[in-house]
Amino acid sequence: MVMKLDLPEQGSVELLKQIIVERANGVNAKFFAKIGDEWTERVQAFIDAAGNPELIKKWDESVANPTPFLTLYNSPAEGHAHQIVLSAMREKKLQICPSCGEDGTPHTLDHYLPKTDFPHFSVIPANLSPMCDICQGHKLTETLDKHDRRIFIHPYFDQFVENRVLRLVIGKPYEAPRNFELLAMDGLSPNLKALLLRHVTGLQLQPRFIHFVKEMHGHLVRTVANIRALDQNVVHQIRTFRKLEAGRGKNGWRHIYFASVLKDDDLMEWLVNGKLPEFIDTVPDNEDEETAVGSAR
Ligand SMILES: [Zn+2]
Repeated sequence: MVMKLDLPEQGSVELLKQIIVERANGVNAKFFAKIGDEWTERVQAFIDAAGNPELIKKWDESVANPTPFLTLYNSPAEGHAHQIVLSAMREKKLQICPSCGEDGTPHTLDHYLPKTDFPHFSVIPANLSPMCDICQGHKLTETLDKHDRRIFIHPYFDQFVENRVLRLVIGKPYEAPRNFELLAMDGLSPNLKALLLRHVTGLQLQPRFIHFVKEMHGHLVRTVANIRALDQNVVHQIRTFRKLEAGRGKNGWRHIYFASVLKDDDLMEWLVNGKLPEFIDTVPDNEDEETAVGSAR
């Protein structure tokens, strides 16, 4: 569901110091000279608190006067330190959304602490991470629940998501399961489980993931029918699918699915030896021998 990302190469405090130096000749020179020290302290406090909104206080002065901060984010001057960092962060190298684990290139940069309430963190790299549009639409400017507990996992600071954190329980009948249930992995502490649940609920991951998994499961059953027809080893093949996905993200949706299938002895027994539905084979074996376009002259 969540992918642990490395903190951006450019350190947040280091970038901030460069910004303050560069602002010394700009239109807001006086403003930045006045608030520079406190801004630096607040960014350091953000890092020390791992971005946790339960611990980070708002800054009245930045909320009352957000424009100089927001301008840095919205219209960064070409060639300035923060413009270079922002454009590197927008390079779209990921193939999975780090917040939900769905396949696809995340198109937006999310402010973990929103720029409406924390304008002074709007260009801080540790507060910015790639996110898909659907997650962004659910997260909006939320940070805390009604009990003042943070809702979202932070992709830079929450180490526990380096491992798989969710498992799927697939109900019977296996050819068309009536139930899919997404659960936290055993072994997580109660606090982490509770955070994970808030994250899953806050991004409405359960219905999104289950919708995906229904398709995925039908696809796997058909693929297994083909694997058996070719006399190949079903367990080895599914393990290979899982390994391929683990390299892309242990909390990616496909990895959670394959890992959960392999852990389910009953389901595996059915896939290996059970009676599968009859399929008409729609994928010819020679598909990998397609003629290259333009070569048949
Ligand atoms: Zn997402």
